[in-house]
Amino acid sequence: MDIKLLDLKRNYESIKEDVDKKIREVLDSTQYILGENVKQFEKEFAEYIGVKHAVSVGNGTDALIIALKALGIGHGDEVITTPFSFFATSEAISYVGAKPVFVDVERESYNLDPEKIEQAITENTKAILPVHIFGRSCKIDRILEIAKKHNLYVVEDAAQAAGCEYKGKKIGSFGDLACFSFFPTKNLGCYGDGGMITTNNPKLEKVVRALRAHGSGENGQHAYNILNNIEEEVEKDEGDNTVYNPKKYYNYLIGQNSRLDEIQAAILRVKLKHLDSWNEKRIEISEKYTDSIKNHGIRCPLKANGKEMIYHLYVLEADDREKAINILREKGISTGVYYPVPLNMQKVYIGSENFENPLKVADFLSKRTFAIPLFPELTVEEISYIIETMQEV
Ligand SMILES: *Cc1c(COP(=O)(O)O)cnc(C)c1O
Repeated sequence: MDIKLLDLKRNYESIKEDVDKKIREVLDSTQYILGENVKQFEKEFAEYIGVKHAVSVGNGTDALIIALKALGIGHGDEVITTPFSFFATSEAISYVGAKPVFVDVERESYNLDPEKIEQAITENTKAILPVHIFGRSCKIDRILEIAKKHNLYVVEDAAQAAGCEYKGKKIGSFGDLACFSFFPTKNLGCYGDGGMITTNNPKLEKVVRALRAHGSGENGQHAYNILNNIEEEVEKDEGDNTVYNPKKYYNYLIGQNSRLDEIQAAILRVKLKHLDSWNEKRIEISEKYTDSIKNHGIRCPLKANGKEMIYHLYVLEADDREKAINILREKGISTGVYYPVPLNMQKVYIGSENFENPLKVADFLSKRTFAIPLFPELTVEEISYIIETMQEV
């Protein structure tokens, strides 16, 4: 039996009719950028997360960069984050000119350890950037408490946590800003690149909206006024938002071009309706793995309450990872290593002032963790085969 880590084809087949129709509608409309689908999807996503505003962007990395820029974070600033994540998390901090300060993770959850944050705060610290890794909510209430005490911003990296909750509230509704990725492999993925920023702060929403499109037009002027404490009426944009709007060529901020396109938004509108049931399926399969895999050399992920873990990946630990992966490969089961190098140990940071000594827990995990196949469309036979094989590893 050959089982991929993730089979996107099966997912597409399950919604093909609906998706194909929506894509054709966009093609026929000739409105490819910032049209009705983007507008509606932003509304639907904000409602789903339970926030006032959602602003779509080109990808999850841009979401992080734009969020940090909107908070005015740059040279001389420090941002506290986790070493156990995808590179984009710390890359975004470095990209805006700030310094990532890595704080070790918790042994059980793999998430930023709140109890180690305070000792890393300096007079240059501006924000905390926690990641809800593998779809598990971090202890966000504790992080918010620390941020409040030290007057810091919180930006959530929710790229792996669409639909995840913490104490009954959706991830993405806690921080000053939260960032999502719709990269095809994420729990809510499109058929290209895509991202979203959510917030309850109307001023930050305006600034983010301006930054994603060259700081121009009505949004740009609004953002400019907010950032410079100017109170004046801003004239509404007229006509087509993208092509015939004369105010489009008046620029107020140095922003960038980072927009979700209409085709991706149309696809995501179809997929958002299925997200909860897909996540439930992920939880069901994962808990079956955890309950059934009984092997001394293997450590399964901690179970969680309700949707506090939505299993973006099913990541477990092996005393001998090499050997486990090789046996699984021989049996046709794909695996992936997340993540082999902690961010603070990446080549690009070593030797710079960012270099830290290995952080104990992240370093330990990076030598042990790997993912086995997990997606909602896995069959009962495949699940049993994976479990059986895991017993022999
Ligand atoms: C995927 C991911 C990102 C980046 O998203 P892209 O859309 O690929 O740019 C950022 N952070 C984390 C934790 C991710 O998993």
